[in-house]
Amino acid sequence: MLTKAPKGTKDLMPDQIYKWHYVEGAFAEICRKYGFKEIRTPIFEHTELFARGVGDTTDIVEKQMYTFNDYAGRSITLKPEGTAGAARAFIEHNVYANVQPTKMYYQIPCFRYEKPQSGRLREFHQFGIEVFGTADMLADTEVIMLAHDFLSAMQIRDVELRINSVGCPKCRPLHRQALKDFLADKYDRLCDTCKSRYDRNPMRILDCKSPICQELVQGAPMMLDYLCDDCHDAFESLKSNLTAAGIPFTVDPGIVRGLDYYTKTAFEFVSNNIGAQGTVCGGGRYDNLIEELDGPATPGVGFGLGIERLLLVMETSGAQIPEPQGVDVFVAVMGEAAKAKGLSLLRELRGAGLHAEMDLLSRNLKGQFKYADRQKTRLTVVIGDDELAAGKVSLKRMSDSSQVLVDIEKLTETILKQEA
Ligand code: ATP
Ligand code: MG
Repeated sequence: MLTKAPKGTKDLMPDQIYKWHYVEGAFAEICRKYGFKEIRTPIFEHTELFARGVGDTTDIVEKQMYTFNDYAGRSITLKPEGTAGAARAFIEHNVYANVQPTKMYYQIPCFRYEKPQSGRLREFHQFGIEVFGTADMLADTEVIMLAHDFLSAMQIRDVELRINSVGCPKCRPLHRQALKDFLADKYDRLCDTCKSRYDRNPMRILDCKSPICQELVQGAPMMLDYLCDDCHDAFESLKSNLTAAGIPFTVDPGIVRGLDYYTKTAFEFVSNNIGAQGTVCGGGRYDNLIEELDGPATPGVGFGLGIERLLLVMETSGAQIPEPQGVDVFVAVMGEAAKAKGLSLLRELRGAGLHAEMDLLSRNLKGQFKYADRQKTRLTVVIGDDELAAGKVSLKRMSDSSQVLVDIEKLTETILKQEA
């Protein structure tokens, strides 16, 4: 128990972390290219934020949140998603009073009590972006384009963009009624979850993962056929924007997001190569969220991109992630005087920007070389009493075992010249 991480969580061990650094760096770079700035919000928020923002009849709020009372009896929840927190900060810091739009990106851990399986964890991580303050479909296009560019940069080839419109509070009730009428005589065969969705939010039945429910919704009325003029025009304009931008997409009327705040645009980037958990990135527009959270009416659009799933898809796509370089210089020492010189040399080498290390276990020379080899060291210097007396050290290149004798005072300089 003590030596096992909780179910649905994963350690990121030091030998794998370079993959995360790689995708994190690339994501931040692409966001900055698009003019997004990073926001960091707390890992926990008041439970009420998610109940209202995400929707208190959604699966997430009903049965997936890590919620607890703090010592003062306040109900606190570990973030299950990123948009509500970003929206709360947007309101709290009066960001709406600035020139709009507001373009933010983030990387966060998310917590959902789900059944763990490949690509589905209880603690997972998301990259996310949000654009607040514009209802123009250009913003939706930019958001989708950013995700597309990022996934391409991550060398993912088998991913498909699917778009849909989930309408707005004006047109959704019509579809909702039509859907309920369609499902009325199938109600008994729906799964228990979908039975409870029938009254609360029947649209989510379209997204049920049970094969029986999937079968039952075949031929169901689709939101796209019920869009009001405003939503219809918005969807048309999104499609022509994407075409103009050269982003391939398919219209998938079955896409419904699992969070209540979505309006109009809903989209997913789906991979067919990692099994059932194929949605790498999901997002859309949420024009009523800020108002729902007691802020001034402000439209928004964004996405969440699962980092664990991203790495799974990258792996199946054969994406190349550069492995970290080994140590530049390993300083091997023999004797107390050499140790002291070694320490000052390390400072000098590191001060010059080199990655330099020495043995911390006082091993013999053979042991030090073995260790240096394991660290994929490029260059090794050996300092012993003789070297100290002569003021010279031999600098060995590990790849071909070639050695040169170097003035100890000129060691850093020599290495830097070699590098250049
Ligand atoms: P799914 O339909 O697979 O449950 P979702 O609609 O719940 O996904 P969102 O809430 O839109 O997902 O979250 C955005 C992204 O976060 C998903 O596309 C996915 O990549 C990732 N994600 C969601 N839940 C998990 C999880 N439990 N474990 C790992 N990644 C997840
Ligand atoms: Mg989910």
